[in-house]
Amino acid sequence: MSRLVVVSNRVGVPDGRARAGGLEVAIRAALRRRGGLWFGWSGRVPENDPEPPKTITQDNTSYITVDLRKDDYEEFYNGFANRVLWPILHYRLDLAEFSRRDLGGYLRVNEFFARNLERFIKPDDVIWVHDYHLIPFAKALRDRGHKNRIGFFIHIPFPPPEILTALPNHERLIPALGHFDLVGFQTEVDATNFSRYLANECGLKRIGENRFAYDDRTIEIGVYPVGVETEAFARLARRAIDSTFVREVIESLSSRAMIIGVDRLDYTKGIAERMDAFERFLTNYPDWRGKVTYLQITPRSRSSIPEYVDMARRVSSAVGRINGAFGEASWTPVRYINKAHTRTALAGLYRAARAALVTPLRDGMNLVAKEYVAAQDREDPGVLILSRFAGAAKECAAALLVNPYDPEGVGAAIDRALSMPLAERRERNDHNYRVLVKNDITHWAERFLGDLEAPWRRDEETDRRAAFGARWH
Ligand code: UDP
Repeated sequence: MSRLVVVSNRVGVPDGRARAGGLEVAIRAALRRRGGLWFGWSGRVPENDPEPPKTITQDNTSYITVDLRKDDYEEFYNGFANRVLWPILHYRLDLAEFSRRDLGGYLRVNEFFARNLERFIKPDDVIWVHDYHLIPFAKALRDRGHKNRIGFFIHIPFPPPEILTALPNHERLIPALGHFDLVGFQTEVDATNFSRYLANECGLKRIGENRFAYDDRTIEIGVYPVGVETEAFARLARRAIDSTFVREVIESLSSRAMIIGVDRLDYTKGIAERMDAFERFLTNYPDWRGKVTYLQITPRSRSSIPEYVDMARRVSSAVGRINGAFGEASWTPVRYINKAHTRTALAGLYRAARAALVTPLRDGMNLVAKEYVAAQDREDPGVLILSRFAGAAKECAAALLVNPYDPEGVGAAIDRALSMPLAERRERNDHNYRVLVKNDITHWAERFLGDLEAPWRRDEETDRRAAFGARWH
């Protein structure tokens, strides 16, 4: 087995404090098994000159981080990654800051990362690069003469060429993905969009269902939906429901049903639209007034970016409007909280909630949806209401799938979820849970690495089945 090198914008350096997320746990496990290193940005932007790379070694793995200079951080991270790539890859041309000419900074930081990483890598290391911050990373390594097998996994959506070609200079950036040996996506739709880009915009020749020829090399395309630690999360939720914190929340509901939403404060999550839907629900189904509380947990994110400030204002004003119009002295319809919660607290709250509202306008996967399914009491589960535009909708096909742009439809789904008979709740939850156990986060990492290390072993039929989950009648 080759040594593994993981490259991502942020590095999951073990700090012994917060419980790590599933993705971090799975990557660390893959690194421990193969030996290797995890490289990326330290999260620091020092006032003075950045220090040399820092290394921490633990469990057969070196965690190596570099600082960014202020102008690099502004152009690469705040600029091109967050204000150009993020909206466009989420189909939001209306929010992309086309005036920002930060591609130069983005390419420069990719080059800087490659230069700093290369002294740590060996010729037969397998390199796994993550996410939209690092699209040109393989090219930066190839330009320096590295011939390693390099894979890329993009955690966010990949839009069709009709949208992607609106990205200024896309022809300088997107074809660089051709320098990876394997490019992995969350869903079949994302993978097809990329194939169409390679065929139509780059004129590459298809040499198999999921293969293209690029000069003397082959680019493989695969679908690897990110999972959660399904069974471990279920155990966590069983314990967490009895914690003092969750008990107090349940008591404070005074026997009302709880609906939960958990999202970073990001315009892709459709939180303002969701508030409108909850308002429609209270308007159209007045019998539920006073009987249900909607808890929306929304840690702030990227608060310095104007598009985020606007959206935060929209959400706050919708919450105020709903509570003002429908609330009573003894009942607040929406509890809106900007504080981040621990995974344990969330696991307990998910289990206590009769329904979850997960209605992003567009989402690569959405792990909250999967965590909610994993956390349910399988004898008496709650109902997942899920946007059809979340990657998770493929595997969680037995959720109530909704169109997040349609407040009437989402309102009706809330009524249906709260009224759903036990047998149907069980059947739907069971279906989703079984798919998520089969395709948990460890399975995801091993499938990707297996295909990257030994592409000749790849079985495209198995790929397809794993990616789609089972069908819901
Ligand atoms: N999360 C958390 N605390 C919070 C809110 C969210 O730990 O207060 C976690 C949540 O459990 C999930 C992740 O953050 O694992 C969010 O992942 P998701 O794919 O849903 O959305 P993203 O923020 O990556 O777009």
